Amino acid sequence: AAKAAGKSAYRTCTPGLRESAVSRAELIADLRRAVDEEELHLEFQPIVDLASGAVRSAEALVRWRHPRLGTLPPAKFLPLAEETGLIIPIDRWVIHEACRAAATWRSRAPEATVAVNIAAAHLRRPDLIATVTAATASAGLAPRALTLELTESALIEGTDAVLERLHQLRELGIQIAIDDFGTGYSSLSYLHRIPATELKIDRSFVARLGTDDRAYATVEMVTRLAGAFDLAVIAEGVETERQHEAVTAIGCPRGQGYLYGRPDSPATVGQNRA
Ligand code: C2E
Ligand code: MG
Ligand code: MG
Ligand code: MG
Repeated sequence: AAKAAGKSAYRTCTPGLRESAVSRAELIADLRRAVDEEELHLEFQPIVDLASGAVRSAEALVRWRHPRLGTLPPAKFLPLAEETGLIIPIDRWVIHEACRAAATWRSRAPEATVAVNIAAAHLRRPDLIATVTAATASAGLAPRALTLELTESALIEGTDAVLERLHQLRELGIQIAIDDFGTGYSSLSYLHRIPATELKIDRSFVARLGTDDRAYATVEMVTRLAGAFDLAVIAEGVETERQHEAVTAIGCPRGQGYLYGRPDSPATVGQNRA
């Protein structure tokens, strides 16, 4: 028995595991400094009017220039940020930076808007309102030029306090998008309750356009639903001409995806794709 216990104890301390435990602790310490050390930056991905090709909006996507590991995508550090609560200062920084960027775009394209992603934990905090108000005010950005992107799971977890907060944000003029729409627990009653202004059709449906009739029907249905609810709608993850033609034929008014532009500098906002 002693031998067996020794063996399993050894197994839980294999070099690989010990290494990843250390690097995880290091990564947390590094992440704690990342905001102060100005290691985060934003890339902006254009959101395109499909009829005209005009770029009137962009989504802010955070990246981390890690001093040793290079540039990390959100999937590499946001889960850790969420576990440790560091997501709150990160999201705050993102909101401020995105508002500042959008204010400069609007000097040449007065209708330009910006979208930022908001973590579920942030939505549960009453100070989200103060953060958003401070960010728009200090950037001199009209609140209606800012869209908060929320996932269905963040919304579904939402208490009455969250719902009240969403209404307060709407009263301030902030736009509310439901991100990755169709991947969570979308139900019609929930769409009646949430004061959303926009649906973003998840890219998993867009990716299957042209090869899967049910994906086509889903994109068509969500586009119609958005129209009936008077919501804006964006097809996410458009990568090919074929997908572009399908979303255009369906009548989806706006799109986002590698076909129109990768996440990059904000230079394209206010310009035409063609
Ligand atoms: P999301 O909000 O759904 O953002 C869209 C993601 O899809 C981005 O990945 C974008 O680069 C990627 N994408 C855009 N077009 C295409 C395409 O045509 N094909 C494919 N395959 N992918 C495409 P990214 O930047 O890695 O971000 C991943 C997720 O991380 C975001 O998903 C969002 O949920 C989260 N995120 C990003 N930035 C922030 C942030 O500042 N705060 C918070 N809380 N979450 C963020
Ligand atoms: Mg998003
Ligand atoms: Mg999305
Ligand atoms: Mg996503």
